[in-house]
Amino acid sequence: MAKPVVAIVGRPNVGKSTLFNRVAGKRISIVEDYPGVTRDRIYTEAEWLNNVFTLIDTGGIEPESKETILAQMRRQAEIAIETADVIIFLVDGREGLTGTDREVASMLRKAKKPVILTINKVDTLEHSPYYYDFFELGMNEPIEISSSSALNIGDLLDAVVAHFPDDKGNKEEDEMIKVAIIGKPNVGKSSIINYILGEDRVIVSDIAGTTRDAIDTPFTDGEDKYLLIDTAGVRRKSKIKENIERYSVIRSFTAVDRADVCLLVIDATEGVTEQDKKIAGYSHENGKGMVIVINKWDIIQKETNTMKEFTKTVRNELAYLDYAPILFVSALSGQRMEKILDTVKFVANQNALRIPTGGLNEIIGEAVLLNQPPSDKGKRLKIFYATQAAVKPPTFILFVNDKELMHFSYLRYIENQIRQSYGFEGTPIRFILRERE
Ligand code: GDP
Ligand code: GDP
Repeated sequence: MAKPVVAIVGRPNVGKSTLFNRVAGKRISIVEDYPGVTRDRIYTEAEWLNNVFTLIDTGGIEPESKETILAQMRRQAEIAIETADVIIFLVDGREGLTGTDREVASMLRKAKKPVILTINKVDTLEHSPYYYDFFELGMNEPIEISSSSALNIGDLLDAVVAHFPDDKGNKEEDEMIKVAIIGKPNVGKSSIINYILGEDRVIVSDIAGTTRDAIDTPFTDGEDKYLLIDTAGVRRKSKIKENIERYSVIRSFTAVDRADVCLLVIDATEGVTEQDKKIAGYSHENGKGMVIVINKWDIIQKETNTMKEFTKTVRNELAYLDYAPILFVSALSGQRMEKILDTVKFVANQNALRIPTGGLNEIIGEAVLLNQPPSDKGKRLKIFYATQAAVKPPTFILFVNDKELMHFSYLRYIENQIRQSYGFEGTPIRFILRERE
């Protein structure tokens, strides 16, 4: 299920970042966990009453030089309209209604997105002195909050989550292999999609539940049903170019959330970028299958070891994705393009693979004999028993005597032993440690 995106819009100084920080939960952890990834204060993960969502502060967009407030507001509103599922329109209850507020309101009204008019800086239980003025904007009955004193934030979030789509699973979608095509602009995503959707495949017409995003394309290949989730299309329609790349990353996150397998498309002439690392890390953390596609291979001058060297560089830059197959293709010449869909299907199966408990415990028993578990102060780690608790991603529970004794490197070793026997190619594996006497 996609994480809904909520954007805060409003003129400078109304309290957007104060509200953002108030609502912000843990930051999208990829931002912290992977080296080389910069912190971004404009988006965060937040949660209210079991609804997890992405919150973005459009105030975090740096103004272009010499840009007027109005031009800046227009950009923020466009980005919010394009990216968000729900928009919080923030105004200032101490200053009252201004001309800029009216302009922003008229931009937001054109969006067919839910907008929640919210009056900030109402620090007492009384209405803002300007409360009734804001009705002129023709929006909802305004919600009054105080971001700095945390008043009524719950009411606001109630109103926000009320607009989230129902989280009912979609049966038709469940039977499909959901593939998110991610990667920077111009790397060849659309060309690859066109190839995949080429002659032999049947594009299924609109089916219930897939209209959520106009750029979802369901199709079949023989017996297999797929849903292509494309993040390229969204950006295409946009008039705004600056900054949008930063925000397209957020859209990519929500595409990854819904996918079983991610196709990370990288331009061979450009290599792995910061944005690729962010999204790849997010996919890894969320347990998605991953296929790395190096496109435009036709342009590269090749010598004996070019592919090997390139693979080494990619493995180096995306070290935690060592399980992901890498394909070198050319959407232009068609070279190796036929491998893409087969690999996606293979990885989807690996991501959903369940292995027998007997076999699993045999592997771990042998692994322990081969390479003694770590010990500390005379106490040695014991692994009593292992069982697979889940798929998508494959998740194993290890019952041990003392969790503290487990080392990351030993867990890696166990993981490698499991992979040697069962593959799990293209998918991350998770371990959960449980203590037992
Ligand atoms: P932004 O420019 O919209 O992101 O606004 P900021 O979050 O930076 O806030 C602008 C100013 O308003 C700061 O001085 C905040 O401390 C103040 N402010 C924000 N929320 C409140 C509030 O609920 N009540 C009061 N009294 N001041 C607030
Ligand atoms: P997107 O923005 O990621 O969807 O990228 P497009 O599919 O629109 O491709 C961007 C540009 O790269 C277009 O001009 C394509 O013709 C070109 N392109 C795509 N794939 C290849 C390829 O394999 N080789 C070469 N030489 N050019 C390609």
